[in-house]
Amino acid sequence: MNDNATSFIAKSTVRAADLEHRRKINFNIGRYNAVVPQGKKQFDNVMLARERAKNAKWEAIEHLDKYLEEFEKKITTRGAKVIWAEDADQALEVIGKICKERNCKTLVKSKSMVTEEIHLNHFLAEHGIESVETDLGEYIQQLDGEPPYHIVTPAMHKSKEDVAKLFADKLGTAPGLTPEELTLVARNKLREKYIQAEIGVTGANFIVADIGGIAVTENEGNARLSCAWPKTHIAIVGIEKVIPSLQDIALFWPLLATYGTGQQVTVYNTIVTGPKQDGETDGPEEMFVILLDNGRTNLLANPKAREALDCILCGACLNACPVYKNIGGHAYETTYSGPIGKVITPHLRGMDEYKHLSYASSLCGNCTEVCPVRINLHEILLENRHEAVVQGASSVAERIAWKTWKAASLSRTMMNMGSGKMKNWVVNKVFKGWTTHRSELDFSQKTFNQMWKERNEK
Ligand code: SF4
Repeated sequence: MNDNATSFIAKSTVRAADLEHRRKINFNIGRYNAVVPQGKKQFDNVMLARERAKNAKWEAIEHLDKYLEEFEKKITTRGAKVIWAEDADQALEVIGKICKERNCKTLVKSKSMVTEEIHLNHFLAEHGIESVETDLGEYIQQLDGEPPYHIVTPAMHKSKEDVAKLFADKLGTAPGLTPEELTLVARNKLREKYIQAEIGVTGANFIVADIGGIAVTENEGNARLSCAWPKTHIAIVGIEKVIPSLQDIALFWPLLATYGTGQQVTVYNTIVTGPKQDGETDGPEEMFVILLDNGRTNLLANPKAREALDCILCGACLNACPVYKNIGGHAYETTYSGPIGKVITPHLRGMDEYKHLSYASSLCGNCTEVCPVRINLHEILLENRHEAVVQGASSVAERIAWKTWKAASLSRTMMNMGSGKMKNWVVNKVFKGWTTHRSELDFSQKTFNQMWKERNEK
C-alpha cells in the first residue's frame, strides 16, 4: 500500500468515528436535500433537461479541439490573450511572469477549483504575492489554513459557531458574532483588497465557444469584482469546461444552480468576452485565459472514463455519497473529492498513486442517480479498478486472494470442501485485511449441495 492510500485510510478512520463532524455534515447536506426538489420544479421534465445537457457536453468533448479553437479565435479578436498550459508548472510559470511584469503585490481571487489543483496560492506566497480568497467560504478556509472541504461549499464542515471562533482568533473580532455580522466583517476586509489588487484571478464554469466567452456563476458578486476591478484579469480554466453555444447556457445555468445549491438560478451569472473595449467604462485593461490540460487529455484518451469530462462540478454526487458523508472532504487529500474525485484523480494524477480512491465506494450508484449530466460514475469506478489490475497496480496478496476466491467460486468441489466453521476461520483469521474495516463473514454451516439434497429427501 502506498503512502497516499495509508494516509487516506488513517484519516478516513478518524473522521468516520467523529460524531460531531457527522452531525455538521448531515445538518448541511440535510438543508441541501430540502431545497433541491424545489429547484427541480422549474423543469417541466428534469430528465429531459439532463439528457440534453449530457448530449451538449458529449458534443463538446467529442469535438474539444474544434470548440476550443473557436473560442480562442473569437476571444482574441476582442483583445484577450489565450495561453495553453499542458500542466500545472506551465500555468504557474505564465502567472508568475504576468505578476512579475505588472509588479503585482496583491491579487484577489474568486473561488476556483482549478487554482486549487495547481496550488496557486502556495506558488504566489513563495513569490511574495498576497493572494486573497474573496468567496466567503474560501476566505474562511484560507483564514483557517485549510483547503476547500467541498467543491461547491468549501466550509461545509464548519458550523456558524466554528466560524465566529475562527474570526475572533484570526481577526480579533468579538466572540460569538452572528452570520450576518461575520459576513460584514469579511466584506469590509475584502473591499480593501479589491482596491489594492493589481490582478484578479477567476476560474470559469463554462467556456462558451461560439461567442468566445467565459461564464462565471457565483452567489456573492466577488467573482465579478475580481475580474472587473483590477487592471488585469487572469482566468484559469480546465479545457473540459467548453460548451458549444450560448444557447446551451439556458440549460446549464439552471441545472448547475439546482443541483449545486437547490436554487433556480445562481445570484450572479456573468459572461466575460474580453477586456474593456473602446468606449466601455468598466472592466480590466487586459485579460488572459489559461486553458489547462493537466491530465485531462488522459481522460479524453480513455474511451471508458472520458464521460467524466462532462462534469459541471455541481457537487451533487458528493452530497449523495454515503462514503463522503462519513469521511468528509479532507480525508481524500486531493483537490476533487467524493465520487467525481475518485473517478478522475487516478487519471489526472496517476493510477499507481491514487487507485485506492476508486475502491473507496460502496458502488451503490447514488452518485450516478443524482448527476445532472448523467455521468455513469459508479461504472467508471469499477472500470478504474479493472484498469488498476490490468496495469499491475494491485498488490500480489490481493491478486492471490482474488484468484483463490475465483477458483473456489467456480468449483463445486472446492465450495463443498471443509465446514462453514473452517471457512469462517480462513476468511476472517487468515485473510486478516478483510475484517480490519468490516464485520466478520459468516458462512453457512451446510453447503448448497447438502441443503439441496436434504430438501429433496423430504
Ligand atoms: S459528476 Fe455529476 S454530480 Fe458529480 S460534481 Fe460532476 S456534474 Fe455534479
